[in-house]
Amino acid sequence: MNWRSALAALIALVLASAGASAEPSFSFDATPGKLPKSVVPTRYAVELAPDLQSLSIAGSEVVDVDVREGVARVVLSAVNIEITEASLDGGAKPAQVSLDAAAETATLDFGSVIAPGAHKLRLAFTAKINSFGRGLFFVDYPTEAGTKRMISTQLEPADARRIFPCWDEPVFKATFALTVTVPQNFLAVSNTPVTKEEPVAPDKKRVSFAATPKMSSYLFVLSAGELERITADADGVTVGVVATRGKAEQGRFALENAVKLLGFYNDYFGQKYPLPKLDLIAVPGGFGGAMENWGGITFFESRLLFDPASSADTARRGIFSVLAHEMAHQWFGDLVTTAWWDNLWLNEGFASWMQEKAAERFYPQWKTWLNGYGQKQYGMALDARRTSHPIQQTVIDQSVAMTAFDAITYNKGQAFIRMLENYLGAEAFRDGVRRYMAAHAYSNATTADLWQALEAATGKKVADIAASFTEQEGVPLVIAEAKCEGGAQRLSLRQDRFAVVPASANASVPAKHWQVPVEIGAAGAAQPSKIVLLDGSAEIDAGACGEAVKVNFGDIGYYRVEYGPNARAALVKAFSRLSAEDRVNFLADSWVLVLASRADAASYLGPVDALAPNDRRAVWDQVINAFTQLDRLSRDRAERPALEAYMRARLRPVFDRLGWDGSGSGDDDDTLLRASLIRALGEFGDAGIVTEARRRFANFLKDPKSLQPALLDPVSHVVGITADREAYDALLALARKSTATNERVRYYHAAASAHDATLAGETLSLTLTKELPSTLVGGLISEVAQSGRQPQLAWDFIRKNLDTLGARQGPDFTDQFIPNFMTNFHDLAHADELRQFAPAQATTGGRVTTARALEAIAISDDVRARVLPLVDRFVGEHPARP
Ligand SMILES: [Zn+2]
Repeated sequence: MNWRSALAALIALVLASAGASAEPSFSFDATPGKLPKSVVPTRYAVELAPDLQSLSIAGSEVVDVDVREGVARVVLSAVNIEITEASLDGGAKPAQVSLDAAAETATLDFGSVIAPGAHKLRLAFTAKINSFGRGLFFVDYPTEAGTKRMISTQLEPADARRIFPCWDEPVFKATFALTVTVPQNFLAVSNTPVTKEEPVAPDKKRVSFAATPKMSSYLFVLSAGELERITADADGVTVGVVATRGKAEQGRFALENAVKLLGFYNDYFGQKYPLPKLDLIAVPGGFGGAMENWGGITFFESRLLFDPASSADTARRGIFSVLAHEMAHQWFGDLVTTAWWDNLWLNEGFASWMQEKAAERFYPQWKTWLNGYGQKQYGMALDARRTSHPIQQTVIDQSVAMTAFDAITYNKGQAFIRMLENYLGAEAFRDGVRRYMAAHAYSNATTADLWQALEAATGKKVADIAASFTEQEGVPLVIAEAKCEGGAQRLSLRQDRFAVVPASANASVPAKHWQVPVEIGAAGAAQPSKIVLLDGSAEIDAGACGEAVKVNFGDIGYYRVEYGPNARAALVKAFSRLSAEDRVNFLADSWVLVLASRADAASYLGPVDALAPNDRRAVWDQVINAFTQLDRLSRDRAERPALEAYMRARLRPVFDRLGWDGSGSGDDDDTLLRASLIRALGEFGDAGIVTEARRRFANFLKDPKSLQPALLDPVSHVVGITADREAYDALLALARKSTATNERVRYYHAAASAHDATLAGETLSLTLTKELPSTLVGGLISEVAQSGRQPQLAWDFIRKNLDTLGARQGPDFTDQFIPNFMTNFHDLAHADELRQFAPAQATTGGRVTTARALEAIAISDDVRARVLPLVDRFVGEHPARP
């Protein structure tokens, strides 16, 4: 094919195949895990009576089990549960119960061998309702009628065992039939519809739910409280939004989109959604995200509800994205489940990819892939470190499983699946996914099963390409250079490994090898002209001499590109003709090459200098992110004021083009860019922005309608960072009087951003009170450190109040939150403090997170020493334009 051809040509330049996939197909017996597979549950009938005052649960269950080989002991999962009774087949065999707190197991010893075959295991137990978002938790939330309490669950990866004893590993699929006793005025929601409700005491009722299909225990859900529900029909399935009383109508946008998505997914996956109903449940605290429980998805309230009075129109984009992600899991995760947490990426990478695909389908004007470019960038940043891990990784226990929920699993998984779909073709890829769904419905799968289905559907080799991206860590670097031969241009490509690692650790990274599908196109072309499966090095025809050639055309591939001087000069000249995707990709690669000392600061800041103020939001967003990173790393440096003046001068013309009061729909990229610029310019000390933000905030206090919802977040933030006593008190008053979760988050966070040390200290003290739900505590402490620029104050506070905070926030506080918090420091002395901080390293997962944080701090320290002086020099030579 020639260079001008619109058709993509495939040139497979094959050496030996890269370390081919060694992973076998799914097998129940070969699946890793702690529990023996000699006794297998098939059906749970669970009865729970939670007491919302004493925060305890009285429970009992009958589990139908299949004893596969004669054993005297049954081992199942339990943590913080007291088992008061355990018997088999109607009480004939009472068991001795022993609990292993570290292993999170209960062993039931029946004294003599249980005959193989079907048995009924009956257990009675008591468990706890937690203040932190694991297992069954409570949330106290404000309403017009005072504080109310509700309960909800969060069980992934391994917290069903905090509610009832069970085989709490994803491979043990069984049906669950729940009966729960709740106050008479509560609405209780679980995976399936209610089959029966009966009063059991003057003010209590017993609610029974239909049995679920076969599913993994982590997908069980129970939410109950003074809730209300709105519903719609989607092809025979009842879709509902459940929220605290008075708020369900704010779920209308989510409800309408859930109906559309259900139809789209029924078709895409080739399997109809198998439950009679799907509820979307808004929980006003307890956990921060969303969870794909089968038939009952839970969301942190502001991720589901849309309130036109207090939400920017653009907030719908985030709501749609989370909804599309969790609904994709109803198939990819719930119907077909990864056998073990080593394949978590299959669930998360796929759902993260599908959320974008669905947004492109229903809201193409949002340009979701372009504007979401940062997800891949973030995954790549972590994947370029020594502490990266393959997206398929060994997971020995639940504390390590927790660490797998990171940007490498989600974002690299998402980016890799996008690259693979692009390489295989969208229809062929979908056919492979349908095969995979049909073959593994109501069961489990491994990554190898997906590759086999895709190979069967497409006839292309998938496993070898995939293995090089999923079974090894690291980011490929494609090095491209152009030369002129006999009047025609030739492009040479070779691969290396891209890394940003701390020099202080004297660290080198081992070489790796990939099969990289590399797309190449002429600057400004609508289509790529070639796809090269790069396995080593290659040389290809690339148009006329001097023609600008873009590698990683369209920003679809998961790799970095470093251009030689000729190829780079041509691209810089053609920069404005590149698509927005390619401009973002070029800038992002240029920036990290500077961070890796592979390029001079000018190779990034030069093109930024030449950007037009009316360039696309994603392009300026890339610049704002790089500038924010530079600004944070410059804390306490004498050169910071000059750097901030430089950055203000670059960004201010972009803001001046937009102005404060834009017209238009309110759901456009200008609205979002305006908000980002106000925030960034405020942080970099733009006096005009600060003055105007404060003026508008003062007006807003008198007349709440005077400030458009899209400006509420950035204006509050700028008022927060510059707050004096009066502004701080005004922000706190707004947070305290609101019953809307998005408003409470906004104003508490704005208050926590105050640079003033006294006010920062007051925010920290607030995190010890009952005023805040536990969900906000970690975020506010981090905000004091980051936006408030008071990391030492926050760290001293954490150490002083460790026991109180740890008890309330749960086990994640010491082994996840603290190591991540410490990355607010950029010096090796604080890395040493973390290294010596024993509580963070009590679990395997804590040690993993700590190692990652130590490297992040060391990289920051290193970039400060190595890169910031180069930036200073560039800034000195390029003073702010008048
Ligand atoms: Zn997910």
